[in-house]
Amino acid sequence: MSDPLHERDQAAAALDMVAKAAGPYLDSLGDRPVHDHRADILLDLLDGSLPEHGEGTLDSVELLLRVGTEAATHSSGPRFFHFIVGGSTPAAQAGDWVTSLLDQAGGLWLTSPFAARAETVALRWLKDLFGLPQSYGGVLTPSATFANLTGLACARQWWGECHGRDVAADGLAGLPPMPVLAGGYLHPSSRKALLTLGCGRDSARIFARDDAGRVDLAAMERELERVDGPAVIVGNAGEVNTGDFDPIGDLADLAERYGAWLHVDGAFGLFAAASPRLSHLVEGVERAHSVTADGHKWLNVPYESGFAFVREQGLMGRTFGPWGAAYLPAEDDPHLNYNCLGPESSRRARALPIWATLRAYGRQGNREMVERHHALALRLGEIVESAPDLELLAPVRLCVVCFRYRPPGVPEEEVNALNAWIGEELLADGRVYAGTTTYRGMTALRPAILNWRTTEADIDLLVSVVREIAARRTR
Ligand SMILES: *Cc1c(COP(=O)(O)O)cnc(C)c1O
Repeated sequence: MSDPLHERDQAAAALDMVAKAAGPYLDSLGDRPVHDHRADILLDLLDGSLPEHGEGTLDSVELLLRVGTEAATHSSGPRFFHFIVGGSTPAAQAGDWVTSLLDQAGGLWLTSPFAARAETVALRWLKDLFGLPQSYGGVLTPSATFANLTGLACARQWWGECHGRDVAADGLAGLPPMPVLAGGYLHPSSRKALLTLGCGRDSARIFARDDAGRVDLAAMERELERVDGPAVIVGNAGEVNTGDFDPIGDLADLAERYGAWLHVDGAFGLFAAASPRLSHLVEGVERAHSVTADGHKWLNVPYESGFAFVREQGLMGRTFGPWGAAYLPAEDDPHLNYNCLGPESSRRARALPIWATLRAYGRQGNREMVERHHALALRLGEIVESAPDLELLAPVRLCVVCFRYRPPGVPEEEVNALNAWIGEELLADGRVYAGTTTYRGMTALRPAILNWRTTEADIDLLVSVVREIAARRTR
C-alpha cells in the first residue's frame, strides 16, 4: 500500500462505503442530538504522525466515516438553529457528490464546458427565482463573504473608473478613500470584503437611527450631498440578530438620486423574493448594482455555496480578468470563463448541487420551503409572546426569532447573565443548537430556521429545552 496507482480498483469501493453509511446517517438526523459532546473523544483517532507508508484507501475512508458520523456536528439535521445555517436537500447533497465524482476544473470553458454551462443555467434560474433582471451578470462563489467581495470589488472598479482610473490594473494609490455608506445592519463579511479590497475594514460610515441599527436615511442622504464624487451604499436584506431588512427601495432611490452604487447583501434575506407573500421585504433589489446571497443557507445546498450578481456584466470581467497570461484564454475568448468574473481561479463545479436542487424542487418547492420556515418563525414568535417567562425582543420578519428568557421576579441586571448561561448550556446539552447574541444591550437567543427538515416538533422542543435548562438554574 502507498501509491494510489496500486489502489485504483478501490475507488468505487471507497465511494460505496460512503453511500452505505449515508442511509443510516441521514435516517439518524431526526432523532440524534445536534452535537454529542461525548463523541469528541473520537477526534483523537484523526491524529497521529503522517504515516510513512499509507494505511490504504478503504481503511482510511472507513476511519473517517466512523469518526465523522459520530463526532461531526450534525448541523444538516433539523435542529441546528445557531448562526444562519441551512441543511442539504436530497438533490443538492447528491449533486454535490456528483461534483466530487466528476472533479471538474470548473473555472474555464476549456477545462469544462459542462461546469460552465451548468453555472450559466444555475445563475439564470437563481435570477428568475429572485426576480432579478436576466441582463445581470453573475458568478458562483464559495460563500456570501466571497460574493460580497465580488460585488464590492466591482463597486470599487466602477468607482475607480469614475475617477478615470483602472483600479484592477493600477490599485488605489493616489485616489481618495472610497466613500462607503451603510446602516447599522452592515454584516462583518462586508467589512472583511472592504479590508481585503484595501479600502479598510472600518471605512464604512454607519448611519443608524437606533441601537438596533436601523438605517437613518436622512443622515445618509446628508452625507451623500456632502461627499465629493460617487459613493457606494451597502444595504442589508436580512440582518442576523432579528432578520430585519434595510429599506432596499429607499436605498435604491438614494443611489439613483446621487449616482451611487448600491450593493445589497442578501445572504439569506434575498430568499424572501422567492415568495410573493414576502417579496415586499426585498422590493427594490432589482435596482441594485450588485446583489449577493448564499446557497449554503436558505437554498439548502451543502457548503460551500454563494452567488454574486452584478448589473453590468462587463464590469466583472474588468474587475477580475483578463490575466494577460499566454496560456490562459484571451480577452476576446467567445466563451464565458467564470474564473474571470470572480475572485477564484481553480474552482469546483459549484453549480451542480444548485442546478440539482433547483431542478428537483423548482420555484414552488423553494417558495414553499421559505414560507414554511417563515410560518415556523411566526409560530415560535407567538409561543414566546404568549409565555410569561419568555420575551420577544423584535418582531419576526422572516426566519430569525430574537427572544430571551425572562421569568417574573428575576431582576433586570441578572437577565443577561441568565441568558448567557442558558445559551452555553443549550450548546452543551446538544439536543437543539441555539446560541446567544447581544441585541440592544440584551443577551438574547436568536434561532434561525432555514433547514428543510425542520418541523413544528423541532421548534417546540427548542422552547421546552430552554425551559428545562432554565429551571435548573432558577430552581
Ligand atoms: C452569513 C452571512 C454572510 C456571510 O456569509 P458566509 O457564507 O458565511 O460567508 C453575509 N451576510 C449576511 C447577512 C449573512 O447572514
